[in-house]
Amino acid sequence: MQSTTQNSDPAEKISLEQIEKKLKSEKENIETELNKIAVPNKNIPGDWQSKFPYGGGDSGTASLERQADEVEEYTTRLPLERSLENKLAAVNAAIGKIAKGTYGKCEKCGKSIPLERMEISPEAIFCVDCQD
Ligand SMILES: [Zn+2]
Repeated sequence: MQSTTQNSDPAEKISLEQIEKKLKSEKENIETELNKIAVPNKNIPGDWQSKFPYGGGDSGTASLERQADEVEEYTTRLPLERSLENKLAAVNAAIGKIAKGTYGKCEKCGKSIPLERMEISPEAIFCVDCQD
């Protein structure tokens, strides 16, 4: 983010290109995070399954105590995995819409959502009026 020009207008417009870049780097971040705690579900595209922290529970060498730790950590990972998965789906949907040219349109009323709003929540699918 360099600002070498004299333009310091805070209302400077963000371009769709910048949002797309933001979405793609967000997608990478989410996938990196997901890969740490989950594996892609081969049967359901877009679905991820939490994995056990120490490489699976069927090694036979893990002590009972360690297995208990694994189960505990697995349980705390599930909600995180779910929320990352939902976020990734939203980001992917947004990227797909940019490609189709339907990005930034409210899915309820069809009005254009201001880019300023899309910058703050790039995966938003509703305008401010239709949100919740
Ligand atoms: Zn709307």
